[in-house]
Amino acid sequence: MGEEQLALTHVGEHQGDYLNAVTPPVFLTSLHIFDSMEEYRNHKETGAYVYGREGNPTVEILEQKVAALERGTRAVAFSSGMAAFSAAMLAVCKAGSHIICMRDVYMPVKGILNGYFIPRMGMSVSYWDGRSLEELESLIRGNTAMILLESPATFVFSVVDIAGVAQIARAHGIRTYIDNTYCTPLYQKPLDMGIDIVMHTMSKYIGGHSDIIGGILAVKDEVLGQALYEQIRPWFGGILGPMEAWLAIRGLRTLNLRVEKHQETAMAVAAFLENHPRVEKVYYTGLDSHPQAALIKRQQTGHTGLMSFVIQGRPDQAMQVVDKLKVFEIGCSWGGFESLALCPLTGATQEELDFLQLREKDRGLIRIHCGLEGADVLLEDLEQALG
Ligand SMILES: *Cc1c(COP(=O)(O)O)cnc(C)c1O
Repeated sequence: MGEEQLALTHVGEHQGDYLNAVTPPVFLTSLHIFDSMEEYRNHKETGAYVYGREGNPTVEILEQKVAALERGTRAVAFSSGMAAFSAAMLAVCKAGSHIICMRDVYMPVKGILNGYFIPRMGMSVSYWDGRSLEELESLIRGNTAMILLESPATFVFSVVDIAGVAQIARAHGIRTYIDNTYCTPLYQKPLDMGIDIVMHTMSKYIGGHSDIIGGILAVKDEVLGQALYEQIRPWFGGILGPMEAWLAIRGLRTLNLRVEKHQETAMAVAAFLENHPRVEKVYYTGLDSHPQAALIKRQQTGHTGLMSFVIQGRPDQAMQVVDKLKVFEIGCSWGGFESLALCPLTGATQEELDFLQLREKDRGLIRIHCGLEGADVLLEDLEQALG
């Protein structure tokens, strides 16, 4: 933890470069100027900043912290998680590439695959349930370029054998991408398990205060990192803004404290729900009843504040429970200070449920994020809403 603590609080910061201010400035500048044409011409060699679409000193502090936390050689920050995902796709794939994608990845990822990369770029996608490595291997084709993972995924918190997938992918020369947002860079280190590209959505725990949109990629491979930093991001133009970077830097300073608290509260809430007579099932990575508990213990060092549960009853009754919650607000995001609840699947078609391999009962799934209000308040709120 010592090294990580330093990354959260100090790495990338050079107070002497900004008048010994203890926190770095928000470098709200679109360009950097030069003393001579000679210096301008040599900017690549000297590493000088030139123009804000290519790089920004505040953004770079954030990138150095996340690279250190993920044990990568480079991190590259984007204006959203989806911009970061798109950049990863554009860096690795080409027209006609075949992708293998886990079934329960973040829905807009499937949206852009089905709505853009397949019809407009001639790509093809095979969906994988994330369980059998033999099945994964059988899906590989000659033109498979990338495997898309999210672990844990955020409806029923299925996890995938990250090292197992990485090993198969490497043997076939296929790149791997994982959405590591749920675990934060603290509780899971996919690059160490052989994954090529790790993504974090910074509106969740990294930002932590529900006040920014941003995404970041971390990689070990220097060639891939350089392609993302020098080509894909400036070409497509999706760099994170300096104000958002500054807020993310501030978020990181307390990330370890916050996720510990989210975890502690969520553990208490999950145990309460699991023992509640009106609750049929709880989905949380911290429970021993999780069907993949052994794998989770092997590759995750912690859990955060997000879980789902299903009540004994119909989906409309689940919605009533959510409506009755007072401390939990109704909202679709997570990772901030506030507790949130939502029924994300009540409108799902049968086809969508089947695709996700969920039960009819899961249509009434209630997803909750346990914020920083403390377990007592949340248990009381859940008790009255379920009563
Ligand atoms: C919120 C979220 C995203 C999307 O990130 P944006 O910054 O909103 O583009 C991607 N993956 C997961 C798991 C998320 O929760």
